[in-house]
Amino acid sequence: MTSQARINVKTRRVKVAIVGGGFGGLCMAIKLREAGIDDFVILEKGDGLGGTWYHNSYPGAACDVQSHMYSFSFEANPDWSHRYSEQQEIHDYIQGVTDKHNIRQFTRFNAEVTGAHFDDQAALWTLNLADGSQLICQHWVLASGPLHVPSFPNFKGMENFKGKIIHSAQWDHDYDMSGKKVVSIGTGASAIQYVPHVAQEAGHLTVVQRTPPWIIPRDERAYSGMSKWLFRRVPALRQLHRLRLYLSNEARVMPIFNPRIARLAEPALKAFIHYQVKDKETARKLVPNYTLGCKRILISNAYYPTFNRDNVALVTEGVKEIREHSVVFSDGSEQQADCLVLGTGFVVDPRIYMKDFEITGLPGRRLQDDWKDAAQAYLGTTVSGYPNMFQLVGPNTGLGHNSIIFMIESQVRYIMDAIGKLDARGDAWLDVKQEVQDRYNDKLQDELKGTVWQNGGCTSWYQQADGRNTALWPHATFQFMARTWNVNMKDYRWQPAVKNSAAVGAARA
Ligand code: NAP
Repeated sequence: MTSQARINVKTRRVKVAIVGGGFGGLCMAIKLREAGIDDFVILEKGDGLGGTWYHNSYPGAACDVQSHMYSFSFEANPDWSHRYSEQQEIHDYIQGVTDKHNIRQFTRFNAEVTGAHFDDQAALWTLNLADGSQLICQHWVLASGPLHVPSFPNFKGMENFKGKIIHSAQWDHDYDMSGKKVVSIGTGASAIQYVPHVAQEAGHLTVVQRTPPWIIPRDERAYSGMSKWLFRRVPALRQLHRLRLYLSNEARVMPIFNPRIARLAEPALKAFIHYQVKDKETARKLVPNYTLGCKRILISNAYYPTFNRDNVALVTEGVKEIREHSVVFSDGSEQQADCLVLGTGFVVDPRIYMKDFEITGLPGRRLQDDWKDAAQAYLGTTVSGYPNMFQLVGPNTGLGHNSIIFMIESQVRYIMDAIGKLDARGDAWLDVKQEVQDRYNDKLQDELKGTVWQNGGCTSWYQQADGRNTALWPHATFQFMARTWNVNMKDYRWQPAVKNSAAVGAARA
């Protein structure tokens, strides 16, 4: 039976199920194939591969990590057009890598996973899908990432609005903004990229800012034909270029630990704002009042000059109410609106965005209960009580300074090592010891206390409501790579199946 045929049956069994077809899921799939494991499936809730770079297609969408870093180390692309690529080019890269490794045939599209349950006797997981089907697997990898559920603000009267509402992650390219009155809410990484484009198209644009971001100049450049030719012909040059980018990004971990270093750069960045924005009052409002790095540092050369346009206004009052054709602000002023653009980010707390995704592990264990106070994992990858369940970009693996793909590759290497060691032992499941996970998280939270994220005078999506940071890795990325280089056998419990059904692949439904 071919892989394609296998994934069409109602209930099937595989060795590994991957939930999510973005960079993480793709990396996992490639490494499984390289290890000779074709008995896997990617369950993708959308109708295409690429994750973030499939769904986020708003005008100006681009990556603020350099392309030679924001790509797989094992799938170099000498032809990146710019230092920071736009969404379409990253999307095309993902499609190219997918096709090269023949990953599409292992993917089931429009397959939303709604729950996962472990049978400790059979040592098998059952994944429930929204269409009513089930999938049985020995291992599963949650690779959906933390930035895929759009966050919609709940403003008073929102339901009465008669115009168009667009979230940055669900852009409607058929909606023509020309001549329209647009009110854009939010000034995060997504908004600062689309605002300059919307300003050019709309009749009038109001940018609603709750907290100004720190923005540094974008050290943009296009790669010349000669550079690309050299990168292709002399791979060592491309590797050196990647190494240089890696090291310069890694250097940015220092101010994270020492907010005083971060503050040294602030006067120059304030001058950058005043240099780029002509109106002094507007410039003043754009200056943040918290330490650089506390929220994600953004990069743009186009955002600030947008406020010099006659058709653009900055509003720093809160939104009080939405009416049928307008937005009312807390000072009582009212702005007519044909369209609301929400650059309001994502629901990033897994306790909220996974609240309807029930996961049960060893007897008596329910992830929603175990994560009641905070999402916790070991190395952001395994969770005690949930054998053979792995996560990519799980708790405390996000980055404020370098490429998340570096972290994904480290995690995938670790998962492959775990699966390999389990198979070599002839066991059916592995489960990280609770005391190992607790020790790891206690230390991590201690280390986070001194960082700019906790002490920088801001609130951000890096923190839960109680201030605990479950989002970011507070060290150099090579330290994460070293920690995940291989699985320490003593960190885990290794168990055979009680029922003789763990020989995955032996009996397919
Ligand atoms: P975000 O960084 O969470 O920004 C959301 C913005 O909406 C913030 O300015 C926030 O204000 C504002 N906001 C939220 N609710 C609001 C409300 N009720 N009233 C007024 N303002 C409100 O979201 P994002 O820009 O989509 O970016 C999310 C993450 O995606 C980024 O941090 C980054 O990791 C990733 N991203 C990356 C790139 C890239 O280039 N690599 C590009 C886009 C996104 P406050 O600051 O006051 O909360």
